[in-house]
Amino acid sequence: MDCVVIGGGVAGMQAALSFRKAYSEKTVTLVDNESEVGYYRTLLPQFMNRTLPENKLFFWQDQDDPRFTIISGVRVESLERENRALVLSDGSQIPYRRLIIASGGRPVIPPVCGAAGIAGVFTVRSLTTARAARVWLPQHPEVVIVGGGLVGVKTAAYLASQDIPVTLIEKENHLLPQALSSQAAKLAEEHLLRNKVQLLLGSTIEDIQSSSGSISAIKASGQWVNCRTLFVAAGSVPEVTFLADSGLLREGNLEVNRALQTTDANIFAAGDAVTIVERDNFTPWTWPQAAVQGQLAAHNLYLPAPFSLSCLSRVNAMNLHGLSLVVLGIPVEGAERCVYTNPAAGVYRELYQVDGRIVGGALVGDITNAGKLHWMMNIGDRIDTDFTELLEPRLETFAKMSPSCAKLNQRAVFLPS
Ligand SMILES: Cc1cc2nc3c(=O)[nH]c(=O)nc-3n(C[C@H](O)[C@H](O)[C@H](O)COP(=O)(O)OP(=O)(O)OC[C@H]3O[C@@H](n4cnc5c(N)ncnc54)[C@H](O)[C@@H]3O)c2cc1C
Repeated sequence: MDCVVIGGGVAGMQAALSFRKAYSEKTVTLVDNESEVGYYRTLLPQFMNRTLPENKLFFWQDQDDPRFTIISGVRVESLERENRALVLSDGSQIPYRRLIIASGGRPVIPPVCGAAGIAGVFTVRSLTTARAARVWLPQHPEVVIVGGGLVGVKTAAYLASQDIPVTLIEKENHLLPQALSSQAAKLAEEHLLRNKVQLLLGSTIEDIQSSSGSISAIKASGQWVNCRTLFVAAGSVPEVTFLADSGLLREGNLEVNRALQTTDANIFAAGDAVTIVERDNFTPWTWPQAAVQGQLAAHNLYLPAPFSLSCLSRVNAMNLHGLSLVVLGIPVEGAERCVYTNPAAGVYRELYQVDGRIVGGALVGDITNAGKLHWMMNIGDRIDTDFTELLEPRLETFAKMSPSCAKLNQRAVFLPS
């Protein structure tokens, strides 16, 4: 097999499709342990609240390509590099000439939530679990969500939009702590409160109670809360357990360089599964990065001198059912913060700068110019002006600010998810 891809999420699917385009005479086989591949994981909350039908979840339809084989519902159990083969859970083996690992992440489950056999406890990661939650929810509408990161906040926003009572528990003192400053997060918190989500910030789940085999209550910060459905959204870790004996992991991480090549020249990797070592051990955990990385890994597979990833960031756009949000980069220690606010309009925009260069920021409530700010951050232009002006959502400010930005000619390069 010319190319084998592990994982049919966005990174793996983009890798397989890009490989077919770039190397049209070569064959590709994609293996995934879920029964469906090529769906928008990002839309699972809208699917679970029944505002999105299942057929709208898929970004890929089978094209009947004889050089593209999909093996779904089968897990890769191990990688035998000496034989250049994968061992699958059905006992078969697949040989490869080149391999792309795009096995994504798996949810972290706090021990207290993992009590075996209690019905009504769901993670938010796969279509199979989302289908089960979708069926369960109408009869069990008292929802608690553990984790106020991106997945938990999106799930809370979309369930609350359908008048489902939701309590959201976050151990830090503000929501989206991996993405936003406490000031920027305030708008997301107010938005959820307006939608009747109950927030327990600075709280952790301590215990759960069941009745007749189903979840009935949870205890957080000493307080019992009724709960008939529990969503666990307490973060993810790269899913690389099947590589334990492959010799590819370092301290448990699947490390790649900026060309997405592992320590084995025939094996590349992309998406949530990887740790990029040339950038302080960086895993972006975003859809746009997983897509771009999948494409690059596929192109690089047969190149004598692979290309490096040109844009490596956590930039991410999302809509929390009525609140638009763009994360340009997490708060950076030592960076100067510039802020633009318009409280009456529900707008908060901030940039972090070091030495005249944008190194992060967030746009909440008004995401105008997100593409341009992202582009300026990515090229690292020094900006010789008052940063707060950049934050005012007026397009004409830009042309005079940065010579490279003027060249951009209003072409947005930002990829919303
Ligand atoms: C509910 C939710 C909302 C999100 N919202 C946003 C958002 O708004 N914006 C954003 O940027 N990001 C968002 N994300 C994150 C984004 O979805 C991920 O960053 C992205 O899906 C990662 O893609 P991936 O292909 O690397 O991994 P995945 O999508 O996790 O795909 C990996 C695939 O590999 C398969 N696999 C794993 N191990 C094996 C094995 N051993 N054998 C065979 N197959 C295997 C898995 O079954 C899976 O199908 C969200 C995530 C979730 C869960």
